[in-house]
Amino acid sequence: MTKEELWKAVLGEMETSLSKANFTTWFKNTSIVASETDSIVVSVPNGFIKEWLENKFNKQILTSIQHLVPEIREVRYTIGNNNPFLNAKKDFSQFVPDKLADQKQSGEVNPQTNLNKKYSFDSFVVGSHNELAHAATLAVSKGPGKVYNPLFLYGGVGLGKTHLLQSTGNKVLEDDPTKKILYIPSERLTQEIVESVRNKSVEDLKHRYAKIDVLIIDDIQFIAGKEKTQEIIFSTFNELYGKNKQIILSSDRPPKAIPALEERLRSRFEGGMIADVSLPDYETRLAILKMKSKQKNFELDENVYSYIATNIQKNIRELEGALNRVIAVSQIYNKSLDLKEVKKLLVTYLSTPYKKTTPQLILKSVSDFYGISLQDLVKRSRKKEVVRPRQIAMYLLREETKSSFPEIGQKLGGRDHSTVIHAYEKVKTEEESDEATKQELVLIKERIYQSMDK
Ligand code: ADP
Ligand code: MG
Repeated sequence: MTKEELWKAVLGEMETSLSKANFTTWFKNTSIVASETDSIVVSVPNGFIKEWLENKFNKQILTSIQHLVPEIREVRYTIGNNNPFLNAKKDFSQFVPDKLADQKQSGEVNPQTNLNKKYSFDSFVVGSHNELAHAATLAVSKGPGKVYNPLFLYGGVGLGKTHLLQSTGNKVLEDDPTKKILYIPSERLTQEIVESVRNKSVEDLKHRYAKIDVLIIDDIQFIAGKEKTQEIIFSTFNELYGKNKQIILSSDRPPKAIPALEERLRSRFEGGMIADVSLPDYETRLAILKMKSKQKNFELDENVYSYIATNIQKNIRELEGALNRVIAVSQIYNKSLDLKEVKKLLVTYLSTPYKKTTPQLILKSVSDFYGISLQDLVKRSRKKEVVRPRQIAMYLLREETKSSFPEIGQKLGGRDHSTVIHAYEKVKTEEESDEATKQELVLIKERIYQSMDK
């Protein structure tokens, strides 16, 4: 199968699962430009699309490729030189390239530290939602290893964690260029560890990490259930901590809520300062938009800012994406857009659904996981093999959707709320005391989150 054939097949599969507008937006002018035995590189028209494919569609694309070439483990995206400006249509609802994001994307990443200079405290807007996290990272950047160690940031996707971590690294390095800094997402660290185990070079790896002054691990939640990774992080942590070297971590949830995390690591993570970032309020969203457009030397109408700030609430990355899009179009047409045009332009953007767990998704994931039918799970079936899956489903419905106990009972064959409470308590106790149950829940949750990405 050639690269072209493979990509065509993938596109065919993607097309069936997306609306036409969405499909065109994200997959137009994409192609496979390189392939190795276990990875392929997909060329995309610009940074905006690159980010979306990476964040929203990567799993689906990878799964689709694996249907045809099971060896492929990784898809990377690169910005190609097929100039999408040439294809810009007069229709505003068509995808419009994000020239500015392209420039930003090319912001240099230092291969030694993995730091990207585009992130700084100067370009970070402080609001009540991130005040503590900002103050803590700033303090750490001024006295690494001296104030809070470790520093643990947590909060939802696109809310500025990486920005703060990277800014901290950049600031330390700016003040003292001799400092050894490493920023690394935990998935990459895991990969390195797996490779070092394979190459029998674990000691080298440990030795390298022991020399770092500021170790920044982003999205640490992904080490859940990865024993070897946890073991090495634990020993590195102790080594660095013992020498007053700074450790900074981020996660989408607090240490307590990371499943399948060894107790000894959890208590280490909780041993310093924990700061959260939550959702920005309207004023802060407005301030972020204004600052970003100022950085781009571009001003929009007040009611356009307010429209974007009103409609995008949960994710600063998306806020920025919408702004970039409006600016790019304004530049192409060389005029400022009025509110009506902006609304039209952002239609596809705003209608892209947010990730959301639904009871259906949970029930489906549970029945898939245990290999039983959805019918058996939700009906009053008395089959013995569905009792436990049903209890697990009850527990997850409560934890993940915050449904009330009576509601959950309704969904699962009209059961009494006391039955649900009993199941919930039982599974909760097991999750805390029994390693196997804990693992089971992690795996089911992974399924749920993965299907959310689709
Ligand atoms: P996270 O790591 O929490 O998922 P990021 O740090 O990647 O989020 O932030 C997403 C985008 O939003 C980045 O481009 C970042 O620069 C921007 N951003 C987030 N918070 C702020 C802020 N308070 N001020 C300016 N830009 C921000
Ligand atoms: Mg991040």
